[in-house]
Formats: sequence, C-alpha cells, structure tokens
Amino acid sequence: MRAASLFLAAACLLLSVSVYPATAATSMSSLQNKLDKLSQSIVQHKKELSNAKKKEQAAKALESELKEKVTVVQSQISVLKGQIAEVQNSIGLKEQEIAVKEQQITEKEAEIADQWGDFKQHMAAMQELRDGGSVAMLSAVNDLYELLTFNEVMQDISIKDTEILDNMKNAKEALESDKLTLESQRSELQSKKADLDAQNSQMRAKQNELNSSVAAAQMSAAEAQQAQKDAQAAIESDEMNYEAVKKQIQKMIAAAAASKPTLSFTGFICPLKSYSRISSEYGWRKNPVTGVNKLHAGTDFAAPGGTPIYAAASGYVQVAGWSSGGYGNYVIIYHGKMSDGNQYSTLYGHMRSVATSAGKYVQQGEIIGYVGSTGNSTGNHLHLEVWKGGSKANAVNPRGYIPMK
Ligand SMILES: [Zn+2]
Repeated sequence: MRAASLFLAAACLLLSVSVYPATAATSMSSLQNKLDKLSQSIVQHKKELSNAKKKEQAAKALESELKEKVTVVQSQISVLKGQIAEVQNSIGLKEQEIAVKEQQITEKEAEIADQWGDFKQHMAAMQELRDGGSVAMLSAVNDLYELLTFNEVMQDISIKDTEILDNMKNAKEALESDKLTLESQRSELQSKKADLDAQNSQMRAKQNELNSSVAAAQMSAAEAQQAQKDAQAAIESDEMNYEAVKKQIQKMIAAAAASKPTLSFTGFICPLKSYSRISSEYGWRKNPVTGVNKLHAGTDFAAPGGTPIYAAASGYVQVAGWSSGGYGNYVIIYHGKMSDGNQYSTLYGHMRSVATSAGKYVQQGEIIGYVGSTGNSTGNHLHLEVWKGGSKANAVNPRGYIPMK
C-alpha cells in the first residue's frame, strides 16, 4: 500500500511536469541521470572485476605451468648431480691407480739402478780378468776344454746381463706407457666432469630464471586480486549511492504526492500488437506446472519469444525485475484512477527480458519488455493481470478491461 502511494505520487509529479515548477522536473531528471550514470559505473566495474578475475586465473595457470617446469629442471639437476658424483668417483679411482703405477715405476727405477751398479762391478771384474787376470785364470784351467767352457760361460753371463738390462728397460717402459694411458683416461674423465658441471650450472641458471618467472606470475595474480577487491568495493559503493539516489527520488515523489494526489487514465490497450491465441483464460484451474488447483489470476497470450510488450496504459513502474514467486521477469505498472473511479495496476509476467525500470513513468504503448518463458512457465507467452484497487487481492478478469480476441 505504501509503495503504491509512493508511485502514485511519482506519477502525479511526472504527469504534471507541464504545470509544475520546472525545478522539480529538472532535479528529478538530474536524479534519473545520476541513477543511469551509477548503473553504467556498476556495469563498468563489473567488467573490470571479471577482467581481473580472468587475469588472476591466467597468472595462476602460468604459475602452475612454470612450477611444473621447475620440477622437471630440478629432477634433471639431481640426475646430473648423480652423474657428476659418479665421474668424480672414477677420477679418484684413476688417481689411485696412477699413484700405484708411479710407485711401481719408482721401484723399477731403483731396481734398475741397483742392477746397473752390479753390472758395472761385474764388467770391471771381466775387464780385469781379460787384461791382467788372464794368466791367473789360465793357471786355474786344467785343459782347453775347460777354457772353452769357461769362455762360453763368460759369454752366457754377458748375454744374461744384457737380457736382464733389456727386461728392466722394457718393464720400466711398459709401466710408463700404462701411466700415460691412465693419465689420458683421467683427463678424459675430467673433461667429462667439466661438461657435466657446465650443464649443471646451465640448469641452475634455468631454475633461477623459472623461479623468478614464478615470482612474477604470483605478483601479477596478487595484483589481479587487488584489482578485484577494488572493483568490488567500487561496485558496493556505487550500489549504495544508487540506493541513496533511489530513496531521494522516492522522497521527491512522496513530496509531490502530498501536494497533488491524482493520477488518472482513460482506458487500456492490448499490450501485444500481435499474438497467436489466448492460451489460458482468467479463472480457477489446475496449474500445468505445480498441479495445484488455484485461481489463474490473469490471461495468457501465446506469442513468439521476443515479441515486444507495451504498457497497457500510462503509469508508474512499480516493479521491474525477477520474481521469486514464479512470474520470472515481470513488471507491475500502477496506472492511478480510471474514469470508473477505481485505481488500477497491471502485471506482465514470464518476460524474456524487462525493458524498463522501477520508478519510471511510462506512456501507454511504450515498450516495457519482451515475451519469454521465464519463471513458472511451459512456453513463450505473456501472463497479464489487471488489479482493481491497486493490489493483487483484487485481480479481475482482464477480458472486462483489455481489448483482445
Ligand atoms: Zn498465466
């Protein structure tokens, strides 16, 4: 009732623009402008909010992708570490072998030096025997055969000496060649290790790079979150301002209503310029959706989705929006007093979309929405109610008021 009187007053104000002081109309229209601007601002901030959400999602996806790459690089690094340890170990073993070889070479050299000393003494003795000691030796030999044997023995000894020297020389050379082989193997291992070290440091650089990319992605996700908070706060503030302006408008309407209490109209037109048929009349019936027997408080006009719906008479839009009670998207217009002395409102249900807003004054024949099948509905149609006395309690049969087939 209170709302009805508010809107009645608003309609009075708007209807009487021509006779009322211009200031009221001007401030009313500036308030309407404010409302429009706030709606636009809300839309803009909602867009920003959704962009920031998308940005955050993208940053988070990037972050998890990068983290996966970090994991891969880390496992590559740990494989490399294993390989490096293995090569390092082989180098250690090789060095031990080289040390053994060096020890053997040293021993062999000492042995050769010893033998060389013996050999020199032996040679000196032989020399003495040949030069000065031949007579002594001959006196010790009993016959020629013995002398020959002695000579052969001497030659044997000298050949043996040469053999021993050769063997020692060969053994030392063999050891040295072994040592060279080991050293070349060691240097191969060292160059392999250097390669692995280089790979390792490359991988570490890559890991660092990825980690800093992860940090950047986290930063941009945090920024996007902040942007969402900002947009949300802006939306809330816009909505609060919107409510405040709406209240101001209602206050103006109330003030105007107090000074000029009548709103009148002469009659209704059909809200649809064309429709296929009346699919359900006003009256008691079983609801096709709920199955409950109750009063069908209006008339159903079957029409294609999207057919424009026009205000059946001029008046004030009381409600424009979603109904939780089954009307779907719906509009209620308060028309004021008709020539029969009663006040009337009309209700338009199941709209695909609403094309007006609460608080607006609409002219008869102005588009207020489009036919749809929202709410408790089984197909595209307009559910039209006519309320006598301005409330649903007095929903009357629209056939008595609205021209129709
Ligand atoms: Zn209906």
